[in-house]
Amino acid sequence: MTISCSILGDRLSRTTAISWSPTTDRASASFYLANCLVALTLMILNVTTASAAGAGSGMTNNTAAVTKKAVFLIVDGIPADVIERVVTPNLDAIAKAGGYTRAEVGGPLNDPAETPTVSAPGYMSLVTGTWANKHNVYTNYDLTPNYDYWNLFRLAKAVEPPLQTGIFSTWTDNRTVLLGEGLGENAGGVSIDFVADGFETDARRFPQAPHDRHIQAIDRHVAAEAARAIEQAGPDLSWVYLQYTDDVGHARGDSPELDAAVEVMDQLVGTVWSAVQARAASHSEDWLILVTTDHGRDLETGKDHGGQSERERTTWMVTNSQRLLPRFYQRPTIVDIYPSLTRHLDIPVPPSVVSALDGRSFIE
Ligand SMILES: [Zn+2]
Repeated sequence: MTISCSILGDRLSRTTAISWSPTTDRASASFYLANCLVALTLMILNVTTASAAGAGSGMTNNTAAVTKKAVFLIVDGIPADVIERVVTPNLDAIAKAGGYTRAEVGGPLNDPAETPTVSAPGYMSLVTGTWANKHNVYTNYDLTPNYDYWNLFRLAKAVEPPLQTGIFSTWTDNRTVLLGEGLGENAGGVSIDFVADGFETDARRFPQAPHDRHIQAIDRHVAAEAARAIEQAGPDLSWVYLQYTDDVGHARGDSPELDAAVEVMDQLVGTVWSAVQARAASHSEDWLILVTTDHGRDLETGKDHGGQSERERTTWMVTNSQRLLPRFYQRPTIVDIYPSLTRHLDIPVPPSVVSALDGRSFIE
């Protein structure tokens, strides 16, 4: 199915260009038609506003404000020493534009906020800016998240006008469980505009392959879909999640196979980074890209994680931001990403949300 609603050439509104036909089963005609109607309405409002301003001032409006955009990528289970050792030219290119730093997960040690170095708790910490004693995600399955702590995507929809959001993910639960989309108002009523997920249960398109190679194929597809949406539609806030590196880590531990998986991951990050650069070059938009991982691995084998050892807690971040504070280089934590993204996007955060955050911005 392809429904295209493209209103190009208007740099005033973040939502006036929507042209994207996702390949997920979730796509529905009515949903995209609704988006198109929103875009048309905003375009008309923009034209009206511009006309009114022109009539009053006698000047044409050619000083469109720069729109802030952000995409964050989580690549699963790559210890800092591995990312520093393996050749990753795309991460290097992003770091050259902004910076690279070692970072931390797991929360404060021997504290009620201590959080397992496990995937879903890490994602939930990132998207809520809080540790597990607040968001209540301690494992990967059978979860009962505490949705009282607003995630970034709920916040994005509370902004006026609401931000356009996207999620491109090898693990569907990121959207349907952690963000709580489809779970109603009690879960925050989150609604994501651009979605590419659900592939790990699509055995027809991605049949089980030896060594979980189908997960790597899904990562490739997810990265390509993210790149396409970013370049064509430019959602204001996007989450990309790539899983395969963790699968290899569990199966092989520290190994040439893990290094090879990290190299492929770097290529996929490059796909998204290229899209960000192309989008920024053709639009009046200020793009932040941030890449991080959710946990390290054990020192002995590299196969396990979940504990609080130094190697399991030590992660890393790469970003193109040119507004990095010194504290970016002082071992920031995964909960610092939330206030940093809202700082870059320059969106208001309700005081009740701010007061619950466990992190601080590393972006000025
Ligand atoms: Zn993980």
